Amino acid sequence: MAYGSRTLTKAELNYSATEKECLAIVWALEKWQHYLEPKLFTIVTDHSALQWVLNSTKTTVRLIRWVLRLQKFDFVVEYRKGKLNEAPDALSRMHSTPGCTLYSIRKEETGIPISAVDIWEEQHKDTEITKIFQSLAENDSSVQDQYKVVEDKLYHQTHLTNGQVHYRIYVPATLTPSILHHYHANPLSGHLGIYKTYQRVHQVAFWPAMWTSVRQYVKRCMKCQTLKNENRKPAGKIQQTTTSRPNEMLGVDIMGPLPRSPQRYEYLLVFVDYYSRWVELFPLRKATAQTVASHLRENILTRWGVLDFIPSDRGTQFMSAVFRDICATWKVTQKMTTAYHPQTNLTERVNRTLKQMISAYVNDNHKRWDQHLPELRFAINSAVQETIGMSPAELHLGRKLQGPMDKLLHGQNLSPTAPSYEVTEHLSKL
Ligand SMILES: [Zn+2]
Repeated sequence: MAYGSRTLTKAELNYSATEKECLAIVWALEKWQHYLEPKLFTIVTDHSALQWVLNSTKTTVRLIRWVLRLQKFDFVVEYRKGKLNEAPDALSRMHSTPGCTLYSIRKEETGIPISAVDIWEEQHKDTEITKIFQSLAENDSSVQDQYKVVEDKLYHQTHLTNGQVHYRIYVPATLTPSILHHYHANPLSGHLGIYKTYQRVHQVAFWPAMWTSVRQYVKRCMKCQTLKNENRKPAGKIQQTTTSRPNEMLGVDIMGPLPRSPQRYEYLLVFVDYYSRWVELFPLRKATAQTVASHLRENILTRWGVLDFIPSDRGTQFMSAVFRDICATWKVTQKMTTAYHPQTNLTERVNRTLKQMISAYVNDNHKRWDQHLPELRFAINSAVQETIGMSPAELHLGRKLQGPMDKLLHGQNLSPTAPSYEVTEHLSKL
């Protein structure tokens, strides 16, 4: 825990309450920048005006300048009514700095922000959820159909047409910000849009008016707002390519040179399956024909089996003898895009999405572009595509990809394919 204060200058004393609030935050974040900048963190404040400032487009020049300075940090703002924010307020009053209140900074781990115990505790404190627990205990038939208690935790249940039941944990209101943050801003979720974020949350969690809260959360995400403003260029027309199964056509491309990372990577080799949109990413130190060909052999062909076509641009690596040899050996037909239409392949579009995702995590240090590549690959491969209603994993592997939060929320004994509780219990006793 750290505490900081300073007096306001004569000019600052004339600032509005909102401006003082913003000044305090900018000052505090820059003061503790070296602790905060590499992390996702939460600003807990009792002044709702700050949230308005960060999400409003019509503010003073001074506020806009501050907002720009705040943009290099990765944080969410949590509004707490004065009473709940007692600790930091007590500290600031003790040293009575007129008009300038600083707040405690709560570090947020980059891993999973909640535990199974948190869910259990918060569920039992939540008034709405407690009411449902009571109704279930009284055998109220109106709730019995919708909810189920498993291991003393409340789940919402949906009866699917195939006879299976979809169980989703009822997330108490106090935990929804952490869940939303994880399913949107964690590298495993990749700051993707409203639909994809909603699908991730909806898969495992339930709370009333979830779509609205997901929509608001994504719309208010500062990272996404900044990135969208930088990427206003309309997407180029994609040449329609018909594929009917995975591994029929696999696009390949090399991004770079990128700023040399601490691991000395300068290029990113990208493979995209045209049918499923499944993505494979390999950071490269040198983009030689030999390296690219090795990845094709070691990590693609010998892993996924033979392909029919491999579209690429006319990069020297793809024209090289070593690359052509591997394609010939594996009976893969190379398809080169024409020089007149370099933007027409799917790989180019995936590259654009990737660049945007990577930018969301580099902050000011562009050399760190490679730090979350495996997580971002997971984010793409597990995200439900709006046009198909399925994720690349479902099309490519025939199953969903489960992340650590999904596993935590889903609970141990709810999967329709998992052995029943009795079996698990029996096995554990052996
Ligand atoms: Zn975002």
